[in-house]
Amino acid sequence: MGLLLLSIHLQLMTTVSSLEICGKTILPGESAHFNLTSYRLPISDMLDTPVFVFRSLKPGPVVLLQGGMHGNETNGVEIVRQLVSRHGIKNPIKGTIIAIPILNIAGFIAGTRDLPDGRDLNRCFPGSKNGSLGSRIAYSLTKEVLSIIDLGIDFHTGGEKINNYPQLRCSFEDKQAKDYAKIFEPPFILNSPYREKSLRREAAKLKKPVLVYEGGESLRFTKLAVEQGVNGTIRLLNHLGVCDIQVPKVNHTIILSSTAWIRARKAGLFRTTKKYGGFVEKDEIIGTISDPYGEKEYDLKAPHDGFLIAINNKPVVNEGDALIHIGIE
Ligand SMILES: [Zn+2]
Repeated sequence: MGLLLLSIHLQLMTTVSSLEICGKTILPGESAHFNLTSYRLPISDMLDTPVFVFRSLKPGPVVLLQGGMHGNETNGVEIVRQLVSRHGIKNPIKGTIIAIPILNIAGFIAGTRDLPDGRDLNRCFPGSKNGSLGSRIAYSLTKEVLSIIDLGIDFHTGGEKINNYPQLRCSFEDKQAKDYAKIFEPPFILNSPYREKSLRREAAKLKKPVLVYEGGESLRFTKLAVEQGVNGTIRLLNHLGVCDIQVPKVNHTIILSSTAWIRARKAGLFRTTKKYGGFVEKDEIIGTISDPYGEKEYDLKAPHDGFLIAINNKPVVNEGDALIHIGIE
């Protein structure tokens, strides 16, 4: 009888601690590398989406580190690459790391944000098995990965024109996500409402906090954004006991309850002398739009006191273009 009970107990331990993902069983202490999805290109070659799993022998949280949801957002890809190249991440003290360095592989190769059919992968969740390409990728991620994680970090980068100061986004309604964001210690934490059909929204429905990291601009490496992303992730993983890696403790995190975009009221050539990340006061002149013939100039004033958390770097702007993102404490 004692042996039977011991056997049942061991079976339960195995059931609880083995991880099933994409038809693979990964035991504690094992690491694995496989594909989340594979799809055929028009030239008939297959395109795979690699996933790397690193498991400790000790039970602990299952954490997703993901980059390349948008194919041209290279800082996010670099952050995950730097993380998974570290011994301490590949050999967690406890728990499991699931790393997907590039979710949108087709976009990454083409240097485009979206998928080949023009869809935004981050508006395809939860996806469906036989839907569009984005819907299929989203379905696989939702079914195979979101179902088993305790926490995720989705690494993004600003647009091709917009340079984001390093920031974490989460809904302040989700207290756990906000607490995790504080431990990450980014320069800024933004209260960011959920967007329908996004990964973060679908994860929240499953009660899985996903933090969205934003830093730098697309198709460029931004040293500060990569450093802050790597160091913040390690701070959070250290806190969870997943690893024990030394990182500088430097940031005073500013929590922003709301943000506002300042848009171009006139078309022309846009210039700003302000540094991103800095503080401006209400009515302070923060930029100028000039016509290209040297005749007219329009000043751009700050509508509130706040921090410049993103700045447009494209000099030629049209009416209504987003120019400066102000974060309000
Ligand atoms: Zn993005």
